Order: sequence, then structure tokens, then C-alpha cells
Amino acid sequence: MPGDSLDANPTPEGIKSILFDETTIDQRIKELAEGIEERCGSDGLTIICVLTGALMFAADLARKLDFPVEIDCLRIGSYGNRLNSVSKPKFSAPLKNSIRGKPVLIVDDILDTGHTLSALMSDLEKQNPSSIHSCVLLDKPDRRQVDIEADFVGFTIPDAFVVGYGLDFAEKFRALPYIATLESAQ
Ligand code: 5GP
Ligand code: MG
Repeated sequence: MPGDSLDANPTPEGIKSILFDETTIDQRIKELAEGIEERCGSDGLTIICVLTGALMFAADLARKLDFPVEIDCLRIGSYGNRLNSVSKPKFSAPLKNSIRGKPVLIVDDILDTGHTLSALMSDLEKQNPSSIHSCVLLDKPDRRQVDIEADFVGFTIPDAFVVGYGLDFAEKFRALPYIATLESAQ
């Protein structure tokens, strides 16, 4: 209809500004996929997607890898409706398949204080995979409390709460195709 294209996707209430748009995210994931192929090889990689925040990222990344992958998912206790992370993350869903002897790639949304990735790495190491690499869409190094880095990082960002492309605030904004900051009133 005439005029439809003018305001087809208005920015939802609560969104402050867009940090990374769909095209930028897509391009960066292509580059990440190339790096992962180089370093993790093509030998039956198991992607472990940390739900729910990494859902979109893991799905897009997996489809850009040029070799077959297995995909499993984990759920970890999260922010809930708060803006601060928890220092002792709780794992609330076991993996479906054994990772013993397999190369594993953890795919998470954000490396923030580092508690989640560090707890997850130790937990998965106990399950004796042949190797573990980690890939996060976003890294907030200024907030780190645990000495840990991810092997692959999409974008490094300053200390700001972000939503979109899988990331929520109180379960809102996950389906936005871009990554954005929130109005401070949220
Ligand atoms: P960490 O244990 O590293 O502090 O927390 C990492 C987890 O906290 C991320 O996987 C993500 O679920 C959540 N988180 C950290 N920063 C943000 C943010 O800016 N926005 C959202 N939606 N979640 C975040
Ligand atoms: Mg998370």
C-alpha cells in the first residue's frame, strides 16, 4: 500500500540506538566462520549454543560454516529481569549427546563478567571433549571479573546493556534483527 515502506519497521519503544545492523552482523559472522574453519578444522565440530541469547547467532553461524556440524543446546541461569549478571551461573539443561572425544565450540551471546563462560568451560572439560573453543557475539572487556577471553569475538563493546538479535530485557526485544542499546529508563 502507498506509504507502507515509510515506517515499515519503526524502532520499538525503549530502544536507544542501533549499535550493529543486520548487514554488519551478517558480514562479521561470515568472517568469524572463516576463522573458525581455519582453527577448528572440519572434523565434526559440535556447536554448543547457550540458550536463549545465542539462539540467532548460533543458527546464523552454523549455516555459514562450510562443513557439517552437530548442534546441541544448554540453558544457563541468566539475568532474568535484572541488568546485572550472576556470579554463580546455574546450568539448567544437560547436553543431549556425549561430547567425549569430540571437538566442541561453545557459542554464547555475550562475554561480560566471564563467570558464565568460565563455569561452562570447566563443566564441559570434565566431559572430556577432544578440544574446546569459545565464540561470543559480543565482548565487554571492561566488566570482566574472571580472567578469561573467548577464542572468537564478534564485536567488542563498552559497558552498556544491549538487546536484540537474541538478547532480551525481560524477554523483550529478542527478535530484533539488530543489536541496540536500551533507554536508561528501562
Ligand atoms: P557473564 O557471566 O559473562 O557476566 O554473563 C554473560 C551473560 O550475561 C550473557 O551470556 C548474557 O546472557 C548476559 N548479559 C551480559 N550482558 C548483557 C547485555 O548487555 N544484555 C543482555 N541482554 N544480556 C547480557
Ligand atoms: Mg547468556
